Amino acid sequence: MKNKKELFQAPLIEISSDAVDEIKRHVAACPDHETGGILLGHSASEEKKIVEMATGPGPKALHSKRYFVRDTSYCQSVYERHFYQNGWEYIGDWHSHTRCHAFRGLPLECPNFPSAGDVMTLDAVLHDKDYDFDAFLMLLALPSRSGINIKVYVEKREGICEVPYVVV
Ligand SMILES: [Zn+2]
Repeated sequence: MKNKKELFQAPLIEISSDAVDEIKRHVAACPDHETGGILLGHSASEEKKIVEMATGPGPKALHSKRYFVRDTSYCQSVYERHFYQNGWEYIGDWHSHTRCHAFRGLPLECPNFPSAGDVMTLDAVLHDKDYDFDAFLMLLALPSRSGINIKVYVEKREGICEVPYVVV
């Protein structure tokens, strides 16, 4: 019997430097609350994803220290524009987690992995019949002392897994 790792072939992820810059710009502008947006690009195959662009959250997004709700109609309109202009598809979401902060004088660890809520959201997208995803990306932007770290996760029917990526 194959183990989970053999069943789960990690996709090749390429992220444009424009998308990375845009994410870092939004996170730097909103360091104390979560922010995010959607990822547009190409799903060349189940095993290859190219992120061309990351949107911002939109003017009606809700930001808090612990969660973020994007402005869906804003993200939808950006997606539609780029779908018609460039043929870019909706291939994933991104959001930030807030910097470490103290609670009653005790330092809290930065959650540098998807929360239970993040995983449930991904599951819901993957199993939504309105979409037809074989794999869906979730990018986390994690502020640290040395800058903003980006981690990429992919949700497939087999489960969720952190995957390596290259910036192009
Ligand atoms: Zn999260």
